[in-house]
Amino acid sequence: MAEQSWRLVLTASPLQGHMSPMLHLATFLHSKGFSITIAHSELNRPDPSNYPAFTFIPLPDNLSSSNTPSFANAVQFMQTLNDNCRPHFQELLVQIQKQKESIVVIHDNLMYFAGSVATHLGLPSIILRTSSASTFPVLKIIPQLHQQGRLPVQDCMLQEIVTELDPLRYKDLPFSGLTVQQTLETINIIMPKKTPSAFIWNTLEFLEPSALTQIHHHYQVPVFPIGPLHKIIPTPSSTSFLEEDTSCISWLDKQAPKSVVYVSLGSIANIDEKISTEMAWGLANSNQPFLWVIRPGSVKGFEWIEFLPEGLVTEMKVRGLIVKWAPQKEVLAHSAVGGFWSHCGWNSTLESLSEGVPMLCQPFELDQKINSRYVCFVWKMGVEIFVERGEIEGAIRRVLVGKEGEEMKQKAKEIQGKVKVAVSHRGSSQNSLKKLVDFILSL
Ligand code: UDP
Repeated sequence: MAEQSWRLVLTASPLQGHMSPMLHLATFLHSKGFSITIAHSELNRPDPSNYPAFTFIPLPDNLSSSNTPSFANAVQFMQTLNDNCRPHFQELLVQIQKQKESIVVIHDNLMYFAGSVATHLGLPSIILRTSSASTFPVLKIIPQLHQQGRLPVQDCMLQEIVTELDPLRYKDLPFSGLTVQQTLETINIIMPKKTPSAFIWNTLEFLEPSALTQIHHHYQVPVFPIGPLHKIIPTPSSTSFLEEDTSCISWLDKQAPKSVVYVSLGSIANIDEKISTEMAWGLANSNQPFLWVIRPGSVKGFEWIEFLPEGLVTEMKVRGLIVKWAPQKEVLAHSAVGGFWSHCGWNSTLESLSEGVPMLCQPFELDQKINSRYVCFVWKMGVEIFVERGEIEGAIRRVLVGKEGEEMKQKAKEIQGKVKVAVSHRGSSQNSLKKLVDFILSL
């Protein structure tokens, strides 16, 4: 590193799937000699004691924990967050500028205030994207699909391929539950208002080559695919907002190899009681051991698992374990896990690919339907799940036992092998990281 002293100001959004990659990135950049300041909202704040070498600056956001984001309130939540954090962030950068360090702002795309403040103060900014790169062409084309009258999608078109987005079908497009106006507002928040100096993308070159090329062509700035960040550099401790129930690891230790279905629908999704009950019956009837994460409050109208009928709870305990939050990466790396029933959030997808675990896909919103299509159709390491007890039972059997499951396991192992190469010395993600460090030093 040059004589000059460098301070990177990283701004993560208060969502689990965005905060964890940002902390991994910060840990990596610190290991390369950069000083790190993490500017974060008060809601879902990271624990500074885990990162004694970083400076943590809370930005007053006037949000309470009852304001937690959901798909329904995403636009309003992000606007409030950005409006409230902006003035404090500007004061922070002005203070740091007085210290005569070279400053680069690295921010989550949802924390767009950070990019606009950086520009205002004449500082370079880089965006970290924590969703799949394949989301970009979709978001880019949606306004055009509206103009051409192809959205909202008619029922008869749902199974058809969107020609410009092959292999995605109309049913894989995000925001199906939103109005046109809400869709355009959401895209406006997700897409950068102004081209940054570069993009860092938590993905891998071999997984999404075409989307990465399109992003580069569109913005004409460097794009660094450096994922999966959790495999590049471990953080000193868990990055979870919720406490991890580690007792599930000793439970997994007692299960047969590749026998367990791990079920987790991420940190945001809220699920109807009816769907959750079908999930429970499907699991109970499948005859496979299962580990099911049910986040408190994630089943609409219930604090935790009160929606389960008494008899079903007893039946489920014979073969299964339900926890409130799991050490997911450790669970997926456990030899007893044979399948991951997931909502296909991008972090969960990357974590499954990294451990070679085939997936049962139950996507809800945002990029999840896109990721699910890639998992099942392009990478061929998973099946789409239709949430009905009989269908679930069948899907679990398809993935965990039987010939089709063997083929998916084989595909998943191949992908895991490629991920290992990408994150190893001279692999594509490591090369991208080297280029990123050089790029920052050139700013
Ligand atoms: N996660 C976890 N324990 C759980 C459930 C989820 O640690 O019990 C983590 C998971 O490993 C992933 C993140 O929460 O890193 C969820 O991010 P993702 O992008 O998959 O979905 P989102 O929560 O954003 O919908």
